[in-house]
Amino acid sequence: MVSQQECLFCKIIKGEVPAKKVYEDDVTLAFLDINPRNPGHTLIIPKKHFETIMEMDEKEATRLFESVKKVGEMAMNGVQAQGLSIAQSNGQAAGQVVAHVHFHAIPRFMNEAPPGLESILASKRLDEKSLDKIAEAIKGAPTGAPASEAAAPSEEKKPSKELSFEEEFGDEFKL
Ligand SMILES: [Zn+2]
Repeated sequence: MVSQQECLFCKIIKGEVPAKKVYEDDVTLAFLDINPRNPGHTLIIPKKHFETIMEMDEKEATRLFESVKKVGEMAMNGVQAQGLSIAQSNGQAAGQVVAHVHFHAIPRFMNEAPPGLESILASKRLDEKSLDKIAEAIKGAPTGAPASEAAAPSEEKKPSKELSFEEEFGDEFKL
């Protein structure tokens, strides 16, 4: 676990690490990503330290997304972009790097021949039966963090095998 004292984004909130801040209110802060994917690439974070959105209650998550919408539109219009991608990752399996909840708002331009962010993952071909099985599993699933500790981004262990996609759903899936 990354302690709150060591967290980069908490240090930015406290002013101990400089950042190009573009928006702030009582519960959220937004600043430019130092490795922008596009001009105007902005990160929106809660001022309270949470590692993933699963730790946030609905009110906290709602307030955060209100800022994501507002700041995303400001970023898009600020750099005169034509579109806006919003991305957010939770847990090691999702590729989360900084263990403090953050949304990426990335202005998008027509002249970049835009791929959608969804396209970073290859499409999986699933038959009707598999889709039904997954839909039922989702309808009956709990909210909150996954049962496995493998979700924690700061823990350097491999994801639990018992939760792997293939083993969970068997060879009905052609990955
Ligand atoms: Zn933090």
